[in-house]
Amino acid sequence: MKKRILLIATGGTIASRHTAEGLEPQITADELLAYIPEAKEFCRVTAVQPFSLDSTNICSQHWLKIAGIIEKHYDFYDGFVICHGTDTMAYTAAALSYLIQNNLKPVVITGAQKPVNLEITDARLNLRDSLRFAADERAHGVNIVFGGKVIAGTRAKKERSKSYNAFSSINYPDIAVIQDHRTIFYIDDRSRIRDRVRFYHRMNERVFLLKLIPGMDGRILNRMTKDYDAVIIESFGVGGLPVYGSQSFPDAIDRWCVQGKKVIMATQVTHEGSDMEVYQVGKSIKERFPVVEAFDMTLEATVTKTMWLLGCGISEEAFSAAFYRTVNHDILLAEQPD
Ligand code: ASP
Repeated sequence: MKKRILLIATGGTIASRHTAEGLEPQITADELLAYIPEAKEFCRVTAVQPFSLDSTNICSQHWLKIAGIIEKHYDFYDGFVICHGTDTMAYTAAALSYLIQNNLKPVVITGAQKPVNLEITDARLNLRDSLRFAADERAHGVNIVFGGKVIAGTRAKKERSKSYNAFSSINYPDIAVIQDHRTIFYIDDRSRIRDRVRFYHRMNERVFLLKLIPGMDGRILNRMTKDYDAVIIESFGVGGLPVYGSQSFPDAIDRWCVQGKKVIMATQVTHEGSDMEVYQVGKSIKERFPVVEAFDMTLEATVTKTMWLLGCGISEEAFSAAFYRTVNHDILLAEQPD
């Protein structure tokens, strides 16, 4: 029996045409499919198009919409392929990893650096690989398929703005590679998924990201408390906070924590993650305040996991254990809660 795949087209370069205003998503889901006639040989595809956007315009309401479509059709399809712009694809992939858990069916996200209607493009290969992967018996969970790689939805980062190999898996191996017609799996953890698929229906967008630069005054954080429930601080190296004579950063962190708001420490270094125990500038903060650390997580996963947990209405006390619990391969370095 051929696998039944639902294609969810959402726009992006893959579906764009050149216009006087620049590239704009205009190619429909059915037109996209028509570029891959060989897909009929290995799967049966139905296409839907909930919206058609440059992914610059995609945010949590769209993640919830996509997850909702998958939930509604979950029992009727063997796999799902989402065509999406590359700019915020890593956020969508991480968000869907949290919104759809214990998922034994493949949810594949793909896109392209060039539109599908050009003669020279990566679009057709990426779409074909994605459909093939979604029809593979071993595939499951949320992954990005792009440039021949299969990357866990929580581990992807767009590292190149123009090249075909735009995405890398950060601090984690690729799940699989696709070469010609063959998929070679490096990681297959299907047997570890025992519970029934679970969909979540809320994200809290009141999450702020502060990237440190040398000389920054911590008082900037005091202006954010009114509008945000959590702040992720992208600090330097393995993690720490500066004290330039004044205590503006520790004071601000104290204010956030006293109000029950979440402070998550991450690093602006892409590879290898944080470890705040190493230096006094990090250790002293971790010892004084109940901050959470992102360790080896990507920034995209850190942001969306925080939005998801806050959206669940998780209690202040339960937040850090829930944050450190591994979901779809997102964190390795934190001690796993019991
Ligand atoms: N700006 C486009 C988007 O993210 C880029 C792309 O798809 O490659 O929708």
